[in-house]
Amino acid sequence: TKEDVKSYLFRNAFVLLTVTAVIVGTILGFTLRPYRMSYREVKYFSFPGELLMRMLQMLVLPLIISSLVTGMAALDSKASGKMGMRAVVYYMTTTIIAVVIGIIIVIIIHPGKGTKENMHREGKIVQVTAADAFLDLIRYVLASLSFGFKTNYEKRSFKVPIQANETLVGAVINNVSEAMETLTRITEELVPVPGSVNGVNALGLVVFSMCFGFVIGNMKEQGQALREFFDSLNEAIMRLVAVIMWYAPVGILFLIAGKIVEMEDMGVIGGQLAMYTVTVIVGLLIHAVIVLPLLYFLVTRKNPWVFIGGLLQALITALGTSSSSATLPITFKCLEENNGVDKRVTRFVLPVGATINMDGTALYEALAAIFIAQVNNFELNFGQIITISITATAASIGAAGIPQAGLVTMVIVLTSVGLPTDDITLIIAVDWFLDRLRTTTNVLGDSLGAGIVEHLSRHELKNRDVEMGNSVIEE
Ligand code: ASP
Repeated sequence: TKEDVKSYLFRNAFVLLTVTAVIVGTILGFTLRPYRMSYREVKYFSFPGELLMRMLQMLVLPLIISSLVTGMAALDSKASGKMGMRAVVYYMTTTIIAVVIGIIIVIIIHPGKGTKENMHREGKIVQVTAADAFLDLIRYVLASLSFGFKTNYEKRSFKVPIQANETLVGAVINNVSEAMETLTRITEELVPVPGSVNGVNALGLVVFSMCFGFVIGNMKEQGQALREFFDSLNEAIMRLVAVIMWYAPVGILFLIAGKIVEMEDMGVIGGQLAMYTVTVIVGLLIHAVIVLPLLYFLVTRKNPWVFIGGLLQALITALGTSSSSATLPITFKCLEENNGVDKRVTRFVLPVGATINMDGTALYEALAAIFIAQVNNFELNFGQIITISITATAASIGAAGIPQAGLVTMVIVLTSVGLPTDDITLIIAVDWFLDRLRTTTNVLGDSLGAGIVEHLSRHELKNRDVEMGNSVIEE
């Protein structure tokens, strides 16, 4: 109908605008670079981009809460259990595949060449065994259970950074408002807190919202008021998202231009680092362009490229913001409106995915750790490679969906095999760029996951519709 044609053009105008924003932003950035703006000028110049970041971040918290609560409340416990299992199996499988790809690619391409000078640094390398890591975990959990977090427990006595353990314990929050405070207790060692978005303990909030939604879902009439409240809140947030989407192309343009203006000179990036960058790009491409679409096709028998086409705006926002949390509102819009994914699935699966499912980050962490080992002439044995793959998975789960969080959680991976954490500085120069690519991969993984979970859960969803007397749309 005429309406359909109009909405089709409208949607594509959006995508076109966003793609144009990336191109214009890149050109503008490179044109202005030679003028060497001062720090202050760059800040002013990037202001429209910063504004987009803030607008998106503003919505993330109420969006996570309202969508998870309503998502859980809309399902019966059997359906949500099954759906949850499917999502977790998908997350784990794809994350592990990503890690394996990262490891294989970095071993084949071998971007890091150890030099004599590096060999002198061997004194810095401390051996940590899996047993050390395990004991540390137990000691940490016991310490935090018995004395509470505020104890003067000597953090430095741990061989393995406590962040891995904080993530674990942090899944249960003891106070909702506390979840919204900055977790100052860990910032002592690292500034951006792993697992937190704007100082929000995202994982804790996800767990809490799910429990809350589950309870409300089982409350019959008494829960009606709360169900309606969160439903309405969710709807209101999504309307705000619709407004922000109009501004998004402008924001993305300035985010990209601003970054290009302020980035370090390419000349500084040596041959090894250039090779490393290429290796990461190859790894991410294999995962995002071959593995994930293939998996989607194998499970759903639908064309993955049509699905990915509907996601373009979310993917470009991820590229522009380098934050999968900030992209979350747009991911919702794309999946629900362009791809018609059932809201009960997106609300349930997306907030969890954006918090814990990071294929790009996992691939990156394993790859970067092995690169650092190569630079240090540090021979990794098979056991250590397994340790890296396990800790890279954990580190990607623990990383928050904020810019460069993956670089911080790298500490966990490096320490687990005794590599010097100072060497993270070797890869900082290119991280702003690689971060954007891995964030895009992360968002793609979450979105295809929602499509796959929806397909696998179609019977439960239909049964629920029948039960609730909703009109069932036949496939
Ligand atoms: N920036 C990434 C994200 O938001 C996390 C990372 O640093 O790898 O998904």
